[in-house]
Amino acid sequence: MFRNARIKLTLWYLLIIMLVSFLFSIGVYKILTREVERFARIQRFRIERGFGENHVILPPNLDSDFVSETKARIAATLSTIDFVILIISGALGYFLAGKTLLPIKSMLDEQNRFITDASHELRTPLTALKSSMEVFLRAKNSSISEANLLVKESIEEVDHLTSLSNALLQLSQYQKPDSIVKMDTISIAEILKEVVIKLSPLAKEKKLIINKDIKDFQVRGNKLSLSDLFVILLDNAIKYTKKGSVAVSTETKDGFVNILVKDTGIGIAEKDTSHIFDRFYRADESRSEANVFGYGLGLSIAKRIVDIHRGKISVESKVGEGSTFMVSLPSDFS
Ligand code: ADP
Repeated sequence: MFRNARIKLTLWYLLIIMLVSFLFSIGVYKILTREVERFARIQRFRIERGFGENHVILPPNLDSDFVSETKARIAATLSTIDFVILIISGALGYFLAGKTLLPIKSMLDEQNRFITDASHELRTPLTALKSSMEVFLRAKNSSISEANLLVKESIEEVDHLTSLSNALLQLSQYQKPDSIVKMDTISIAEILKEVVIKLSPLAKEKKLIINKDIKDFQVRGNKLSLSDLFVILLDNAIKYTKKGSVAVSTETKDGFVNILVKDTGIGIAEKDTSHIFDRFYRADESRSEANVFGYGLGLSIAKRIVDIHRGKISVESKVGEGSTFMVSLPSDFS
């Protein structure tokens, strides 16, 4: 498909270039031949006048032979030039068509990968849900309490699927090239305080303390998406911390506002740190040791939001000691 589109685009490029080149050649041919005819006429006039006294009359076909030979030469030269232009622009057009289509190709590849990953993630819980219902149906003499348990588990599974589809929707929204239109001057402290209030009940449930050292700085950004970003980071910090505390702090350095979300949780192994921002990636510890529910989408959404804001996100972590996620956003000095 990509090859076909590339060839089609090359042909379009060629058609336009050759049309221009052909029209240009016709123009040049017309001008040059007119000049040659004029030159021949002047020469004949000069020669006949110069030899006027001796009554020299040039043969009538002398000019026309010279003119037609010169015209043929001009036509041949212009055709050769057109042919060379055709070859060069064909090769150049093919190269440029490839360059033009490359971002579209990678976007399509990315979209296909997204659809494959998403359908895989959706199919697994749906298959599990279906088979537990089939097992229940096949079993004879199932009791009411077993039926209740099945319904309860199915509802939990449906809730998980709903949160997965919400996360997928959120990710697909942030993946659009024009995802965020409205950027304002934002107070980072205001957003962080709102996020902390929102997630405090979760921390309380796990008896975790949220420490705040939030100084206010202005950044240019979209309030809703920045709020999504810090909800993801703080939610993870709470999810992956069994005991201890979570800390949110801000600082400014080298024209960037740094927001740090630190926890005393399970930490991330070195081999995982470079992958945790990939879609659907979950470290083994979070599945086994922490046994925390998740789909591995939060940090890829977070990374996308940071990219849209032309910022950076990084993590420092030690297994068993905790993690610190740092988001750096360009300061707004306006
Ligand atoms: P989810 O939390 O739903 O699994 P994320 O994309 O938010 O998905 O995170 C990807 C993985 O990164 C998690 O599965 C976990 O292994 C690791 N991770 C993220 N945040 C933390 C954290 N604060 N502490 C330890 N591990 C973390």
